[in-house]
Amino acid sequence: MGSTGSIGVQTLDIIRRNPDRFRVASLVAHSRWQELADQAREFGAESVVIGNKELYPQLKAALKDTDVKVLAGDQEINHVAQSYRSDTLVNALVGYAGLHPTALAIESGKRIALANKETLVVGGDIIMEAAKRKGVDILPIDSEHSAIMQCLEGEQRSSIRNLIITCSGGALRNLSIDDLEGVTPEMALKHPQWSMGAKITIDSATLVNKGFEVIEARWLFDIEPERIKVVIHPQSIVHSMVEFTDGSVKAQLGNADMHTPISYALLYPERAKEAVESFSILDYPTLTFAEVDHDKYPALGIAYDCLHRGGTAACTMNGANEVAVAAFLGHKCRYHDIVGAIRYALDNASFEAHPTLNDYDSSNIEARELARRYLKL
Ligand code: NAD
Ligand code: MG
Repeated sequence: MGSTGSIGVQTLDIIRRNPDRFRVASLVAHSRWQELADQAREFGAESVVIGNKELYPQLKAALKDTDVKVLAGDQEINHVAQSYRSDTLVNALVGYAGLHPTALAIESGKRIALANKETLVVGGDIIMEAAKRKGVDILPIDSEHSAIMQCLEGEQRSSIRNLIITCSGGALRNLSIDDLEGVTPEMALKHPQWSMGAKITIDSATLVNKGFEVIEARWLFDIEPERIKVVIHPQSIVHSMVEFTDGSVKAQLGNADMHTPISYALLYPERAKEAVESFSILDYPTLTFAEVDHDKYPALGIAYDCLHRGGTAACTMNGANEVAVAAFLGHKCRYHDIVGAIRYALDNASFEAHPTLNDYDSSNIEARELARRYLKL
């Protein structure tokens, strides 16, 4: 799911290189129908779903000489998530849209290779509980969580002291708080290390992304927020670390290339033979680490607050952020308004301490409305 996006395309790259290991059952994208049709042909998908129903006729026409089943809309996306035609869901959708497909795929017993971090940000407790109940593995694609998972191989839970998540600092890391005032989307989209979709690139600039990764780690690894640390590491070579009770620290290093974590999730416990170019530590004689400046990056602290509040708080943060990031990308608000909208939504949203998946839908809608009100959209 999300096959036309940054993670989706790289996932299909790995599948292309391992034709004896994988078959593609279904592909899902939102609007790039031509690319989706080309992918369906190349990978022999049984079905495709286009999220935007208005584009159904174009997609249908593009595949009229094939046996590919062409579908459209959210209900069909959910249907594909539940279908018994596949044993793994690679969820690379962006935003809240990823939550229900993950939940449905877990209920149908599928293994989940998870790039869509918003799934765990919003509903981490429910999702992890369901995965446990169904005996389903959730394999993280996010590079930091892949790194932590790799560091934890062969270790006992009781030996973990802290998880240390690294953070590049994003595109704006060399700007002062005052300089941030005039930042444009074009400036924020120039990530120094990673080439990713637009939303996560803006989230990386605000550190909302890092806040989300703390929340993701809390649920994936079932560890208290106090034991999840974040350090700035501008080179993006150490993808994250685990500190153990005996003082030993394990880190996972490598090129900043998502092919590695994606292939790790797809092939686990095997490793890809040639995921990326060979890594040379000599190319990086200096690796540096620094504390996060919380005045410059308030979003990280807000994410920890959401974890402490629990319930629907992180869902509210996520919904408001989605609206604000889209507005920022469309030149409809300023950089600082993103955190402004998140704060406003958290201050004004109703709070549900023990939400169900459906409660998250209402909380998401409310957060989006509050953000729009704050941003005067
Ligand atoms: P992207 O914007 O490049 O791609 C998103 C994909 O999802 C596209 O195929 C789009 O068509 C599809 N999509 C979006 N909304 C949809 C909807 N409502 N219905 C159907 N399809 C929809 O995003 P990306 O950078 O690939 O990121 C995907 C997810 O992976 C995000 O949650 C992101 O935070 C996470 N992630 C990405 C990276 C990265 O390197 N790109 C790294 C770590 C985590
Ligand atoms: Mg990441």
